Amino acid sequence: MKHNFGAGPGILPQEVFKQAAAAVLDFNATGLSLLEISHRSPEFEEVLNEAVALVKELFNVPEGYSVLFLQGGASTQFALAPYNLLPEGGKAAYLDSGVWASKAIKEAKFFGTTEVVATSKESNYTYIPKDYTVPADAAYFHITSNNTIYGTQLQEFPQSPVPLVCDMSSDIFSRKVNIADFGLIYAGAQKNMGPAGVTLVIVKDDLLGKTSRKIPAMFNYQVQIEGGSMYNTPPCFAIYVSMLTLKWLKAKGGVEAMEKDNNEKARVLYEEIDRNPLFKAVAATEDRSRMNVCFVMENPELEKPFLKLCDEKGIVGIKGHRSVGGFRASIYNALPITSVYVLIDTMREFAEKNK
Ligand code: PLP
Repeated sequence: MKHNFGAGPGILPQEVFKQAAAAVLDFNATGLSLLEISHRSPEFEEVLNEAVALVKELFNVPEGYSVLFLQGGASTQFALAPYNLLPEGGKAAYLDSGVWASKAIKEAKFFGTTEVVATSKESNYTYIPKDYTVPADAAYFHITSNNTIYGTQLQEFPQSPVPLVCDMSSDIFSRKVNIADFGLIYAGAQKNMGPAGVTLVIVKDDLLGKTSRKIPAMFNYQVQIEGGSMYNTPPCFAIYVSMLTLKWLKAKGGVEAMEKDNNEKARVLYEEIDRNPLFKAVAATEDRSRMNVCFVMENPELEKPFLKLCDEKGIVGIKGHRSVGGFRASIYNALPITSVYVLIDTMREFAEKNK
């Protein structure tokens, strides 16, 4: 048995894989594969409608917001957010809490002025800056909810005088979120919500139409809203698997239950890292992520043998990002706590052998 701690694409529930595999062979007893049915067929429209309905239900999305399933990953949203929300000659504020945030800033510069209110680059993003002021004349304030590479996470979302735009790629549906606090949320599905190939966008309708810029159809949120995420052929399979994952999440008790489980998984793992003399957590204690737990070894020479032991125990995907080193245990929604216990036991066994 494998214990998948990979950061992305991340683990999805086993039963979702089974249902998805069955649908590839015969979708809902239609005698056709999910991969060959028309996206305009009533069968697929039902899938998309259900996916949208589940997002609305699980996140309690209020009136006045649209839910979209788009393509191009979160990296495309780095550009589409300013393309759609930043008026010509306008300014957008950004919090630079990691490489993904700085890529978002780079893209926004194509469309207007950016003001970086704070950065933690000097410490290789081991913490999230808290001391800053958001300019009241900005079109929006962009934040990254969870910094996948560095294992930091906003514990609370900042108060902002302007609409919040949030990249939630690596912790979407892992905790409760008050959608009304946000102007735009986006997330590449492939960490916590589904397979690669689809991106969730939740946008407040009244933020749109404020730029006179001409926006090509595929990049235009308004066009996508009017087309019901079907301006062109949508990524049917990725949407279907996301829908199944959201259904699984609902059956598990929804976002609240996920948050409780995730908190417990993170708590026991950080407790072991803090207790075990061989390991050291990377992120500032107050900013520790409950999705990506990054840690290094006091003695880097032991990293290879530890990885080897992990491999023997069926623990996969635990190597840290090259810019941080060490290890990163991604403990996404679908990872059972039993896998976390296997990792903890492995850390203990390794420490025992290397006293
Ligand atoms: N934002 C965050 C927080 C991420 O972790 C990632 C990918 O790991 C991205 C954005 C980029 O996502 P995509 O590959 O979907 O463009």
